[in-house]
Amino acid sequence: MRFPVFVALALGVASIAAAQTTAHWDYEGKNGPLRWGKLDPAYSACSQGHEQSPIDIHGAHLNKALQPIEFHYISGPVTLEHNGHTIVVHVNPGSYIVAEGVRYDLVQYHFHHPSEEAVRGKLSDMVVHLLHKSADGKQAVVAVRLKENMDQPNAVLATLWQHLPKTAGSTEKLTDFVNAGGLLPAERAYWTYSGSLTVPPCTEGVRWFVLEEEVGLSRDQLRTFTSIFRMNSRSLQDAHGRRIEANE
Ligand SMILES: [Zn+2]
Repeated sequence: MRFPVFVALALGVASIAAAQTTAHWDYEGKNGPLRWGKLDPAYSACSQGHEQSPIDIHGAHLNKALQPIEFHYISGPVTLEHNGHTIVVHVNPGSYIVAEGVRYDLVQYHFHHPSEEAVRGKLSDMVVHLLHKSADGKQAVVAVRLKENMDQPNAVLATLWQHLPKTAGSTEKLTDFVNAGGLLPAERAYWTYSGSLTVPPCTEGVRWFVLEEEVGLSRDQLRTFTSIFRMNSRSLQDAHGRRIEANE
């Protein structure tokens, strides 16, 4: 009998520790987005911040001084994680972008349905957020909106979706190599603005690069994701007069 008691104690300690660091949040109900800021003092930016994401992209200012983003993505092994809110694709080091003269390393990418960012008021079917970090800790997200395109499955999603972990907390390590570059459109013109993480703790100071061109996924691929996540998007936030720039 001692073993189960020990296990129960260990689990109890673990869940208390988890509760102290992250309050439970969700996309609807009493822990939904409108209450995130009240769930935990650490989440206060979710309700108090003035540079929150996502936003509606409109009225962008053309800035010809903005250089194209350099993508240096390489193939490698990935681990998929169902974290209860989305599927996170964890990548090995080696993939990075150079944007506005700064190198940001790709850390992970994940998906939302529908897209979080709107363009002139319109959401897309999904979005992939490619999360990057610079050596000095600055975060940059490249957002690629995904649009249902019945007969054109996306090759990267075809690989990933075969290994989707179906329950919260589970992971799948792939033996196939995956290159996140397969999620990028051919044209990489972008809009950029200063925003936040779109999930608690809603940390600000995140540089956003929303690619203008959408990428297609098949109806089956969309359904596969929505059968796990019916809706996992934060609603649009007030831009508070933030400037959005377009590079071309
Ligand atoms: Zn995201």
